Amino acid sequence: MQFIDLHRQYLSLKDQLDSTIGSVISNSAFIGGKHVQEFEHNFSSLLGVKHCISCGNGTDALYLALRTMGIQQDDEVITTAHSWISTSETITQAGGKVVFCDTEADYFCLDPNSIEKHITENTKGIVVVHLYGQPADMKRIMEIANRHNLWVIEDCAQAHLAEYEGQYVGTFGDIATFSFYPGKNLGAMGDAGCLVTNRGEYADYARLLARHGGKNAHKIEGINSRMDGLQAAILNVKLTHLGEWTKLRRQHAMHYDTLLSDTPHLTCPSVRRGCQHAYHLYVVRVTDRKRLKKHLSDHDIPTLINYPKALPFYPAYARLGHRPEDFPIAHGHAKQILSLPLYPELPTEDLVRVAETTADFQRTNFGRQNSGAA
Ligand SMILES: *Cc1c(COP(=O)(O)O)cnc(C)c1O
Repeated sequence: MQFIDLHRQYLSLKDQLDSTIGSVISNSAFIGGKHVQEFEHNFSSLLGVKHCISCGNGTDALYLALRTMGIQQDDEVITTAHSWISTSETITQAGGKVVFCDTEADYFCLDPNSIEKHITENTKGIVVVHLYGQPADMKRIMEIANRHNLWVIEDCAQAHLAEYEGQYVGTFGDIATFSFYPGKNLGAMGDAGCLVTNRGEYADYARLLARHGGKNAHKIEGINSRMDGLQAAILNVKLTHLGEWTKLRRQHAMHYDTLLSDTPHLTCPSVRRGCQHAYHLYVVRVTDRKRLKKHLSDHDIPTLINYPKALPFYPAYARLGHRPEDFPIAHGHAKQILSLPLYPELPTEDLVRVAETTADFQRTNFGRQNSGAA
């Protein structure tokens, strides 16, 4: 079994993908051009936002968004202690100071209750992540941001079409960023990313930055971050299936929830009230992860740990001198989390086998009663 089988998705769209790739090659539409413009139009229409600026990958999108917010030296940016490092490394690269904040016990996202104690006179903004596809608590986070006059960037790399109270994530903050890395919910055949915003001046500035400050205008020094024509053409084909793929992800997650519901010492992911999770990852919490992971691996079931440490505890952030008690929730989660295989084309028999092998192991080791990962 594979953790994610990208080839199944390719086979399901093979004719369309092969022909669109062929047409990009015949037209030499490698950089910029029709497919890229179409993608920007299609993606912003899908989300209902005014502007989409395509770029090289989701990390570049974050960097461009942060630079667009106009970070100055000593500006502090609050972000979650639990994410992929792109979320925080780009704050430093854009010239700001990373200020980590703990996460919510049930939802893995930035905890609104912990944000305000990190706000100082130097705080300029917040980068929230809809981790694993779970919407962060955008209503409360936007309230806090408005009260303190802070900008908000949403990192939606794992949350295409996730919804918070009927509204897509990525439409709450000042700018939102997306990744189309092959394994993401909408994946290219290489690297690709974009940012979206309703503010025209942000869109203009981000585009300038991503294109060397404007071709032959060079109004500012920028970077080179573009979406290839090939990737745009591929994403245009795949985009029309994103809605149905997201539904399938949700169905698989419900199936796991049911099969794993009374498994001792295992907690299924909970969904925030009023939200629609996008299930980039299906992450359970267990007490004896090492043994369960090995047991599953012995049964040819691959699992991942996303991510093995909270960000403040990687060597890259040793300079901040943080200790586990600074981020008790994120630190605790890092030891318990395990991602089970979930992708739209996951065969039901595979899902059932993963769930049954997991539940059997937990029952054998922890008995039938006494459930929960506490
Ligand atoms: C994947 C990811 C990114 C970065 O995207 P790339 O396209 O790989 O650069 C950023 N943030 C989060 C939360 C991610 O999962």
